[in-house]
Amino acid sequence: MKILLVEDDARLSRSLARLLEQDRHNVEVAADGETGLDIALGENGIDVVILDIGLPDLSGIEVAKRIRRERRELAILMLTARDTVGDRVTGLDSGADDYVVKPFSYDELAARLRALARRVESAARRPEPRLTAGPISLDEASRTVTVHDRPVDLSPREFSLLESLLRHPGQALSRDQLLDQAWPFGVAVTPNAVDAYVHYLRTKLGSEGERIETVRGIGYRLNGA
Ligand code: CA
Repeated sequence: MKILLVEDDARLSRSLARLLEQDRHNVEVAADGETGLDIALGENGIDVVILDIGLPDLSGIEVAKRIRRERRELAILMLTARDTVGDRVTGLDSGADDYVVKPFSYDELAARLRALARRVESAARRPEPRLTAGPISLDEASRTVTVHDRPVDLSPREFSLLESLLRHPGQALSRDQLLDQAWPFGVAVTPNAVDAYVHYLRTKLGSEGERIETVRGIGYRLNGA
């Protein structure tokens, strides 16, 4: 595989690159987010990006989001130093396919890479799952949304809310149902949060935001026609 390694720790980067090359991978190296992004978005046949979350300029999260926006077929394996649920969720929400927590062994990384390689191959053969309503299109695999083929930048919560609505077109969903489907477990929120996020979502979807109809006394319904 052709691998782009974005890591600012020079020692780790050197030894990883050496081990990956011993495994017959073709490796390109970047020490900061901007350089990594330039390489990832260029025409160079990269299959997988190994992306450190803590970089000196752009964070790995930001780099992952931008890669996802333009090159959704690239697999991203994130390296995170902090093993917290929040970090993992943020990493995966930003578009990473998988993550490895530092410190990790090379064998662990290599195993994740093999799993990713299998996924990249099977995804290439299978059409990507998409949810649509008129010109709104949501791609669950890359976690991207477009309206008339133009990308819309949504927060993870807005994305999940839209996903829930798109899964049940024409159906009135209560605020509680939406909270159950689109919010993480164990987070204390009031049903009013749904109203706030519907408002953000409508604004970001522009004129297509009108598809999210208010159902008095119940909640919301997406007009999918
Ligand atoms: Ca780092």
